Amino acid sequence: MMMQHVFPTYNRFPFEIVSGNGFKLTDNKGMTYLDFTSGIGVCGLGYNVSKLNEAVEKQLGKVWHTSNLYESSLQESVAKKLGEAHGMIASFCNSGTEANEAAFKLARRATGKSEVLAFDHSFHGRTYGSLSLTGNDGIKEGFGPLVPGVSFAKYNDFAALDEINDQKAAVILEVVQGEGGVVVGDASWLKAVEEKAHEAGALLIIDEVQTGMGRTGKLFAFENFELNPDIVTVAKGLANGIPVGAMLGKKELAKFFGPGTHGSTFAGNPLAMAAADVVLDELNTEFLKGVSEKSDFIKFLLEQKVKNIDAIESISGFGLMIGIHLKETVDVSKVVSMLQDKGLLTLSARDNTLRLLPPLIMPASELMAGIEIITETLENILVA
Ligand code: PMP
Repeated sequence: MMMQHVFPTYNRFPFEIVSGNGFKLTDNKGMTYLDFTSGIGVCGLGYNVSKLNEAVEKQLGKVWHTSNLYESSLQESVAKKLGEAHGMIASFCNSGTEANEAAFKLARRATGKSEVLAFDHSFHGRTYGSLSLTGNDGIKEGFGPLVPGVSFAKYNDFAALDEINDQKAAVILEVVQGEGGVVVGDASWLKAVEEKAHEAGALLIIDEVQTGMGRTGKLFAFENFELNPDIVTVAKGLANGIPVGAMLGKKELAKFFGPGTHGSTFAGNPLAMAAADVVLDELNTEFLKGVSEKSDFIKFLLEQKVKNIDAIESISGFGLMIGIHLKETVDVSKVVSMLQDKGLLTLSARDNTLRLLPPLIMPASELMAGIEIITETLENILVA
């Protein structure tokens, strides 16, 4: 099938996923794949999850939509589970980019300042505010003028601290840059950015759209670094695939987002909230500990078996978010296709990176099976 009625904004692979179960996906030709993508970090709990199906079906039979004019005990429950431990409350939306829009707006309104510092190779979304915060010129090309007041500094570079001054409303960053090529933030640098931001009266916004919801063995990746952000954005895994996002902000910021300041028709709708409520229950301490253990295991495998393969430049990652950086002469999109032919779905990212985001529920045995397919494939690539 050639898609002719949809804008070609995505390079699509020539098959259709028609069903999913656990950590496996099946296409329209009957081929079953081991999934190392989670739908780009969305379906952490896998596919066709009975607890989620039941919760959504139950809600479907009650009511699908009302509006944010009325109270919502589901929103209250999800917001509490997300934010209470960090003294935060939530504003719901429908995607990651919208969560970052809300963060951008709240930061300006709360500080009375307009400038924001973002980082090279960051990704925050494709609506105008978030696109303006994104440190990738390619995806901004032809869309200007963008939102003014945004500047960029080098990620993991202490020189960035000089850019954080009292003109800044906020500093926005990802603790691990996902689309940017799985670049892990340096712990002392992250802490220094936080301190400088707070000294300058700027809010620290952490974009957890890709790193959050258990991906790094904690509910949020920033918890691994003991950071104290003012605003946190989440989406992707929050309802395991039902469109939803949330901006979390410190309780003290509530007065800047009063009635009439911000909102969206579908934000916090009952179906997404019913799913998110279950997701948050599933991501309990025991589950997250399992994610950490599996992360350690996969790190060990990569060190032992994969790292020294000729085609590989280096490996990076945190939790179940892994980047295998291929040598310049190796074409990562070809590698993704070769792996698909062998029944493994993977992703690419900036900088010739083969990106792995397996579902968090994947057992160690299947993680190992996937790594074996990658090992065998990369070993057979002739490096010029
Ligand atoms: N922030 C980050 C860190 C992301 O990885 C993404 C999506 N890849 C977004 C924001 C945008 O999310 P969405 O596509 O849901 O708008």
